[in-house]
Amino acid sequence: MMCGMLLARAGVDVWVLEKHSDFLRDFRGDTVHPSTLQILDELGLLEKFLARPHDEVREITAEIGKERFKVADMSRLPTRAKFVALMPQWHFLDFLAEEARRYPTFHLAMDAEVTELLSKGRRIVGARVNTPDGSGDMLARLVIGADGRQSTVRKKAGLKVRDLGAPFDVLWLRLPVEAGDPHEPVGRFIGGNLFVMLYRGDYWQCALLIPKGGFEALKKEGFSAFLARLRTAAGFARDRVEALKSFDDVKLLTVVVDRLTRWWRPGLICIGDAAHAMSPVGGIGINLAIQDAVAAANVLAPVLAKRRPRRAELRRIQQRRLWPTRVVQRFQVVVQNTILARTIRSQVTPRPPLILHLLNRWRWLRQWPARFIGLGVRPEHVRSPLVEAPPPSN
Ligand SMILES: Cc1cc2nc3c(=O)[nH]c(=O)nc-3n(C[C@H](O)[C@H](O)[C@H](O)COP(=O)(O)OP(=O)(O)OC[C@H]3O[C@@H](n4cnc5c(N)ncnc54)[C@H](O)[C@@H]3O)c2cc1C
Repeated sequence: MMCGMLLARAGVDVWVLEKHSDFLRDFRGDTVHPSTLQILDELGLLEKFLARPHDEVREITAEIGKERFKVADMSRLPTRAKFVALMPQWHFLDFLAEEARRYPTFHLAMDAEVTELLSKGRRIVGARVNTPDGSGDMLARLVIGADGRQSTVRKKAGLKVRDLGAPFDVLWLRLPVEAGDPHEPVGRFIGGNLFVMLYRGDYWQCALLIPKGGFEALKKEGFSAFLARLRTAAGFARDRVEALKSFDDVKLLTVVVDRLTRWWRPGLICIGDAAHAMSPVGGIGINLAIQDAVAAANVLAPVLAKRRPRRAELRRIQQRRLWPTRVVQRFQVVVQNTILARTIRSQVTPRPPLILHLLNRWRWLRQWPARFIGLGVRPEHVRSPLVEAPPPSN
């Protein structure tokens, strides 16, 4: 959506195809980081975005057993917005779609699923799209695969995937909110449990990490045993776990971390999770995908209005984004393998490492994790042109 908006802003004719009829799926994350807020500021959209319901997180904390540790402090970031905005991703996408529709060359087709790629020799020249009205072919100078971690586009393009491994899956469930609850996200290590809670206004979106493939074993232990485990993990929300009636109220989300060895073919490029599926660790994936979108539009906007992109231009996008992706995925894999996997395999609360005590004690130290999580490495800036200002919206 971001890439589509930036290209349309530069006068390129763009179709964004979305297979669902809306963006309302609760497996999406909520964290809009300072890097993304900075992009919105560069586009003159920050105030409007922040006028929508959201929460602002300036400090990130972790709970280990009964102790709380401050781990990241956003207040020193060199950005306009020095916080993470928490907004469900479907609201963020609705916002972007609304803004993008102001450009006359932007088109969004919902209920439009890409099922095949069209090729001419080795070049991709379009896509076959299924809609409620039937199937049709769409020709394009470039197909951008931004269809997430189960990407059809990358599969159909035959691009090679390197699996980086993820030792855990996520159980996704909701607990009720009560008056007086905090709004900050919670990350809690207790017993062998790792429990994350995201405030979504009228409910808590919660994630319980389990060893990969462990859901069936957990089901065999029975629903009461599961509720008992949740009570241990849910902290101030422990008395609300009875709101869950059966395993039907619990969704299994499979975590994948992988990366394409080559992100493009003539006529096609993948970005976001389609190029590199991200783990939930750090809540970074949405923001990395936005950075890809900006980098891609910077290279493609001046080209696409006139002609098909050349191989060198597609290669340049991958070269630009590969290093930041590698660094962030490396961080995710190390955290997964050294901290998360061990915690969920053991039955004991881990001992807080020295670094947590240091971060908790020294506020200035907390700016560094904040920079890494909030800005990432090699932050992108909007360089794609604005061809014609759209009419003002309300
Ligand atoms: C459990 C879990 C929690 C996470 N939490 C966070 C978090 O809090 N913060 C964060 O930053 N990241 C989080 N992530 C990572 C994040 O979800 C992804 O990195 C991010 O969504 C990638 O964005 P994307 O636009 O590339 O893909 P997606 O967000 O997956 O979007 C792809 C879109 O393409 C559509 N689509 C798919 N196939 C087709 C098709 N064939 N035709 C047409 N449309 C299609 C899909 O419906 C979808 O709308 C989490 C990941 C997991 C697994």
